[in-house]
Amino acid sequence: MNGKIHSFESFGTVDGPGIRFVVFLQGCPLRCKYCHNPDTWGAGGEEYSAETVVSRALKYRNYFGEQGGVTVTGGEPLVQIDFVTELFTLLKAQGVHTCVDTSGFTFNAATEAKHKKLLEVTDLFLLDIKHIDDEKCKALTGQSNANTLAFAKFLSDNGKAMWIRQVLVPNMTDNEADLRKTRAFIETLQTVERVEVLPYHTLGVSKYEKLGMKYPLEGVQAPSKEKVLFAKRILRGE
Ligand code: SF4
Repeated sequence: MNGKIHSFESFGTVDGPGIRFVVFLQGCPLRCKYCHNPDTWGAGGEEYSAETVVSRALKYRNYFGEQGGVTVTGGEPLVQIDFVTELFTLLKAQGVHTCVDTSGFTFNAATEAKHKKLLEVTDLFLLDIKHIDDEKCKALTGQSNANTLAFAKFLSDNGKAMWIRQVLVPNMTDNEADLRKTRAFIETLQTVERVEVLPYHTLGVSKYEKLGMKYPLEGVQAPSKEKVLFAKRILRGE
């Protein structure tokens, strides 16, 4: 089947272990205020078959080494979960490490079976917890965090490795009590291999300008190194 793809990155180093071929899928139901990829939100993108993406990715196989492989991100890649499952099935047949960067938003009772199928061909999930407080999550992303937290539990219950990620935005996601609440949630999970704090940055501003959109976090600065370290220590339980 075909997937709608925004773009590719040949030598990704920040979306999973090792050097990775990164596939940015088109479409996202969230509207995170700090999003630096607003161009992936809507319809559009170019159509590629799963086979075409596999042959593109395999050109970089020699760079993957022991740890690298292919990551799908976006946008929210699991809006196209059937395509991702087909893509990963083909990649696993080639022995390639597979990783999904997701908010977990698409997970619910009706879609659980599809997610279970995806788990079978996915080595690692990078799960973004946008905000542990549901009301603040809605204010930040336009959506509840319920599916995300349920998906984290689902991954854990199914023995699937995950890295938890959180974007640190000054005055929005750096509240100490909320960070401690997130840590308490992480401690309920059995399969968390790593916790990453991603400092908010303003690199997306020009994309908003190009799209003629108002930048939602006008004037918000990147967090200080100290704040990032502080958040890391709490979220990692150090
Ligand atoms: S989930 Fe990702 S792509 Fe979607 S709005 Fe949030 S940051 Fe942007």
